[in-house]
Amino acid sequence: MLKELINQFYSNQRKDREQHHFYISDAGKCSRAVFFKFKKAPREEMEPRVLRMFDHGNSIHRLIMKPLLSMKVIHVVASEVNIPPQELIAGRADAIISDGKELYVLDIKSMNSMIFRNLNQPKEEHINQIQLYLHYLDPQKGILLYVNKDNQELKEFEVLYDAKRAQSLLKTLSDLKIKIDSNIIPPRILEWPKGWQCQYCQFKEICSTTGEGNVSWDNFKKKIEAQSENK
Ligand code: SF4
Repeated sequence: MLKELINQFYSNQRKDREQHHFYISDAGKCSRAVFFKFKKAPREEMEPRVLRMFDHGNSIHRLIMKPLLSMKVIHVVASEVNIPPQELIAGRADAIISDGKELYVLDIKSMNSMIFRNLNQPKEEHINQIQLYLHYLDPQKGILLYVNKDNQELKEFEVLYDAKRAQSLLKTLSDLKIKIDSNIIPPRILEWPKGWQCQYCQFKEICSTTGEGNVSWDNFKKKIEAQSENK
């Protein structure tokens, strides 16, 4: 009984939200997948189990912040820091901390043992995210703190602000915004269909029936609507 009720609780939270701006986590991701998310295109449903894992990630963040908030050598200047409001992108860094000499943006990430074990450098997608936090917030340095969900081991990596990389990520998002507004589905990523983004992509089914390059969303939408009516 409880299993079904808990699953139902998470399923009810799985609504497609209206998206009007990018999130920091969209930076560096497949433009086509982000486009489909904006347009609320049909996607593979996320299992309640996966949503519970996201929730677990949030509680790990709180667990890590607890000692940081109580120690003297590190000062938590602010936690859950929103980037300044603007039209293109929104995001919230876990914290800004100070060691008494410098300020750092802190971003906490959790993962399973298998991925954690092989982690010798920060993941590219996480560097992208922290670069944008550094771009919009004061500190010039960031720390990516990784937590092994299975045994609570930690690894940390310092990241320096790279203005060129941040500008390039923002330019890609601005270009994508133009495509979203003009209903042009961007091309697939070069790594399709074997790349890791495709493996975990909720839109892989509809992506495989869309052409490879730029495609008209209006035409494609009519096609998928007709297909679902014929089912
Ligand atoms: S399947 Fe791959 S190329 Fe297609 S939308 Fe998903 S991530 Fe992008």
